[in-house]
Amino acid sequence: MPDTAPVPDAGEGLPTANVLLKPRRARPFFGRHPWVLDSAVLKVEGEPADGAVVDLATHDGQFVGRGLWNSTSRIRVRLYAFDPATRLDAGFWRRRVETAVGLRRALGLDDRAGAARLVNSEGDDLSGLIVDRYGDYLAVQVTALAMAHRLDVICDALEALVAPRGILLRGAERGLSKLEGLHLADRLVRGSAPSGPIFVHEHGLRFGIDLTEGQKTGYYLDQRDNRHVAARYAHGRRVLDMFCYSGGFAVACAVTGRAASVLAVDSSGKATALARANADLNGAANVAVETADAFERLDALAAAGERFGMVVLDPPKFARSRASLDDALRAYHRINRVALGLLEPGGILVTCSCSGSVSRDDFLQMLAGVAQRARRPIQLLECRGAAPDHPVSASCLEGEYLKCVIARVP
Ligand code: SAH
Repeated sequence: MPDTAPVPDAGEGLPTANVLLKPRRARPFFGRHPWVLDSAVLKVEGEPADGAVVDLATHDGQFVGRGLWNSTSRIRVRLYAFDPATRLDAGFWRRRVETAVGLRRALGLDDRAGAARLVNSEGDDLSGLIVDRYGDYLAVQVTALAMAHRLDVICDALEALVAPRGILLRGAERGLSKLEGLHLADRLVRGSAPSGPIFVHEHGLRFGIDLTEGQKTGYYLDQRDNRHVAARYAHGRRVLDMFCYSGGFAVACAVTGRAASVLAVDSSGKATALARANADLNGAANVAVETADAFERLDALAAAGERFGMVVLDPPKFARSRASLDDALRAYHRINRVALGLLEPGGILVTCSCSGSVSRDDFLQMLAGVAQRARRPIQLLECRGAAPDHPVSASCLEGEYLKCVIARVP
């Protein structure tokens, strides 16, 4: 069956099977956690198709929640409702999407010239679905098989609510797709695709976004407000933007923050081409862009005795899982340690982590370790997260992945 085939419950949204939990395993789900792992499942009564609606119950049959089944994924059931009267039918998905879009409207993020995340998976009670709006276009990322089955309903809702020119489907990270048994190719699902980059406004700046080639769904929307806030510290400083991607921090520091100069570095040539273009688009002549490996470049800058008034570190996910946590923390330690050495007295460090398995505490502990090794104090000025169009469910803190710490090094 293709991944986006119609829903296997005839569209009624009623359960086709019961999934019983092992004894003493129900607590997180009474607490509305949406992921039911295979290890918590005692048995399945019935033979649900992948993507079908199932009820989750305690071992002795008490209703816990209603969700969607996937025999391939370690997340056997994703829960979407906690009331047995709720049908997971087309109207249900439409209402969920409507609520999510309504939040962005309330946040003032519905300006057609801008960009915003309209649906943030668990944070919007739509586990497995991400929708980003870039101007008049939507990029949809599906990370759960059951959402793929409901893509039509979701696109109908999005068309009715935001009338985009086109909706593009972007594949999830390769590893993730495999875990879910998902085989979605990037494609246009509704309307037309943009013929070139899309230009969006962000806090008074303009950025070109390549929707079909770019990383993630094309841009790092989660850092929108952090770029703006970080820029306030850049005035008159020499700034290093390490892991710059399309130059978001670099351009904000150069233009909004009126930095003295900015050096932006990324190992991807495509990224640095975007960064160069975005710097030019905003008339930021004092931004230099380099394609280089961050670890090597940081060491080389340190060896050359270079000094900066501000260093931004926004590396890719270092930890893919709890298992790689120690390696990830060592990598964070290493780049932050070198960055500290590059900072002149009173310098500003903007250091980020987008690894969900590195907790805020882990990250701050890592910084404490860096201060100890460098024998320099680190003053935490702001501990920030993702922008508010990336809400996190209090019942699923796994969704809280982004840390952005702004610190001063006396
Ligand atoms: N700060 C950016 C987002 C950075 S995403 C923004 O605000 O938009 C992380 C970036 O790190 C990616 O662009 C990726 O190409 C880059 N990257 C990954 N490994 C790298 C390495 N070893 N050296 C330099 N850049 C790297």
